[in-house]
Amino acid sequence: MTSDAVGAAAALPGHNSGRRCSFDESARRIKANSRYLAGGVSSNFRLGISPTPLVFDRGEGAFLFDVDGNRLIDYYLGMGPMILGHNPESVRRAVEAQLQRGILYAGQTDLEAEAAQRVCAMVPCAERMRFASSGSEVVQAAFRLSRAATGRRTMIKFEGHYHGWFDNVLWSNAPTLEAAGPEESPHRVHGSKGQELEAGDGLEIMSWNRLDLVEKRLARGDVAGLIMEAAMCNAGAVQAAPGYLEGVRAACTKHGTMLIFDEVITGFRLAPGGAQQRFGVTPDMATFAKAIANGFPVAAIAGRADVLDLFGQGVLHGGTFNAQPVAIAATLATLNALTPELFATIEKRGQRLMDGIRSELAAAGHKAIVTGWPQIFHVAFDLDAPARNYRDLVRMNKAKYVKFTTALLHNGVRALERGAWFLSIAHDDAVIDATLFAVREAAREIRG
Ligand code: PMP
Repeated sequence: MTSDAVGAAAALPGHNSGRRCSFDESARRIKANSRYLAGGVSSNFRLGISPTPLVFDRGEGAFLFDVDGNRLIDYYLGMGPMILGHNPESVRRAVEAQLQRGILYAGQTDLEAEAAQRVCAMVPCAERMRFASSGSEVVQAAFRLSRAATGRRTMIKFEGHYHGWFDNVLWSNAPTLEAAGPEESPHRVHGSKGQELEAGDGLEIMSWNRLDLVEKRLARGDVAGLIMEAAMCNAGAVQAAPGYLEGVRAACTKHGTMLIFDEVITGFRLAPGGAQQRFGVTPDMATFAKAIANGFPVAAIAGRADVLDLFGQGVLHGGTFNAQPVAIAATLATLNALTPELFATIEKRGQRLMDGIRSELAAAGHKAIVTGWPQIFHVAFDLDAPARNYRDLVRMNKAKYVKFTTALLHNGVRALERGAWFLSIAHDDAVIDATLFAVREAAREIRG
């Protein structure tokens, strides 16, 4: 580390005491654990990370503490959920109180009703809602409701948008441009070996941010539902073109297609009411998970009363762990903490971080584009212009970005290799200063 970086570390007491982080013990344990745990991990998205997948001991505020004794400033934030930071007291207390009262009832609770009421008060489309345990599941629920409500089969998703790992939606998440085919009629590209290919038969792929294509396709009158990340956050952090969301909304209404916003990342993060509130466009249904419960396994589907009420009229939705009381205690505590003041604070600090990263990378001579929102933004190397869709993003310099996040990690900052940065209320100004010192150092290390 340079003396500047040591200075930033000193401003944060104990920030690795100014030493360069190493991850040998994590690497050793991942290798040893692979004898029992497939690949040493419990999700493929934790595999193949440079220099090694990490093993953690605890989390607190903006920090994670790993088994090598490093204290890392964390911008993974559990892949998005930890909007209040790691282990916030309000959530911990609510969970501890519920633990005194039991773990699982296979019945209803007042907490669950109160949390549902909060969701319906916060989210514009939410006339009714149901809880579940993962984002992948609630997307399945939205597909089933779309088909039941319309009597049609075809669903539409967009290239580069991720809606979970199940066979019927794991298509064209990250296709090569050769495999993806023409932009006007993209090929459907499967995402995993072993995937049931027939499961994709009811799914069509489109390129995002092209209203003309959506209008033309929906006019055929046979599309049950259209699902999108209303702000594209799994690949990049791309805002819809002006008028796009409104135009898709109008086309869906005109042609009787269910509009579904997958707000698993954007929900309770871009605004208290998610992307739909921030951009002022209300879908028929929306799916939530991640930030709804600050790290507990909770998901939700919300939307029009007449559609969600189909669950009580022959459309099946189940789940042993749905609305698990301990997780719902965490949900309520999280939702109660999501005040307008909290969002204003994250917004201000995140803007400073985005601006700081932009100028540090430019000062070190890197061509970098920083896009998105202060709560979730994206950094890409070597793009000529901000991306409009997945096809633009494919051209970013991914190999160089991985060098950058690896260098950041050695300087005590953990950021996702895909370019996304999540922010929490625990990332205060001192943490952001320390991050920018690390960015400066990493930018210098990867030069040349
Ligand atoms: N939809 C979106 C937009 C997501 O980002 C994710 C997870 N990254 C999912 C669905 C799937 O959620 P889960 O991992 O909880 O199944």
